[in-house]
Amino acid sequence: MKNFGYVKAKTVAEAVQAGQGGRYIAGGTDLLNLMKDGAQVHDRIVDINALPLKGISQDRGVLSIGALARMTEVAAHPVVRRALPVLSEALLGSASPQVRNMAAIGGNLLQRTRCGYFRDTASPCNKRAPGSGCAALEGENRGHAILGGSEHCIAVQPSDLAVALLALDATVVVAGERRIPFEDFYVVPGTTPDRETSLRPGELIVRVEVPMTGPAARSRYLKLRDRATFEFAVVSVAAALDLSGRTVRDVRLTFGGVATKPWRGKEAEAELRGRPLSATSIAAAGKAAVRGAVGREHNAFKIELLQRALSVLLTDLGGLT
Ligand code: SF4
Repeated sequence: MKNFGYVKAKTVAEAVQAGQGGRYIAGGTDLLNLMKDGAQVHDRIVDINALPLKGISQDRGVLSIGALARMTEVAAHPVVRRALPVLSEALLGSASPQVRNMAAIGGNLLQRTRCGYFRDTASPCNKRAPGSGCAALEGENRGHAILGGSEHCIAVQPSDLAVALLALDATVVVAGERRIPFEDFYVVPGTTPDRETSLRPGELIVRVEVPMTGPAARSRYLKLRDRATFEFAVVSVAAALDLSGRTVRDVRLTFGGVATKPWRGKEAEAELRGRPLSATSIAAAGKAAVRGAVGREHNAFKIELLQRALSVLLTDLGGLT
């Protein structure tokens, strides 16, 4: 039996050195459950809670959120509430108050899928045990993806925060100042569903940068779920909208609960940009949003539900009601 190691890092450099071959922990709200279930096994845990990565600051139109800022603090921050409402709404719609008090922003982005087979070590799962198969393809797949899946995995990335940050065109910054546009942060499963992000081994997220310009101020998050709290999205939509009169000057649409990574609805955006916002253009955007979607036995209803969610959110955000 191997020894288990625990390191409490005092500096970023110390953390990164210890992180090679180890696993970072902050709030631990997902990681500890995964380890208790046996879905993840780590020989060394690197506690990063003492690092100076909790700050939230703004400079030249960009909000910088430290990777260790807790979800509750970010959701309640006055600048976030005023200038980035979609971010505050996505955070407040996540988990429970207790979890939001503990969970850090960096860890939220790296939480693992809620696919039940992933967390059940008796089931085949290519994400947990590469090459073992995917029990969800022909099994219980109500919570699974209709977009971005492969024959190796159709698990949904569950972070509400990530859907909002994609809508806001955020950037993830890792130690050493490598900058990763949010669009490139997550990867689809393809043949390697065990790889979920473009982080290199041992890389440590230090902050997320969020531009506060463009359509960010008129932004919303709509989350549809099976119960009103402490529940993951069945379907969610984030929208950031810049209107000139009734004409859509710019728009960003992202979807959660339906895809293997936070999903940008570029084709849906194209149906709206430069056109009047109306029931007709919104319906066209909805159709474009689900182009290429693949429904399976239990999750095909999401194809219709996503279009309805998008319609409700854009109608409200555009003041069409
Ligand atoms: Fe595993 Fe992905 Fe299949 Fe779920 S959907 S069982 S996470 S391979």
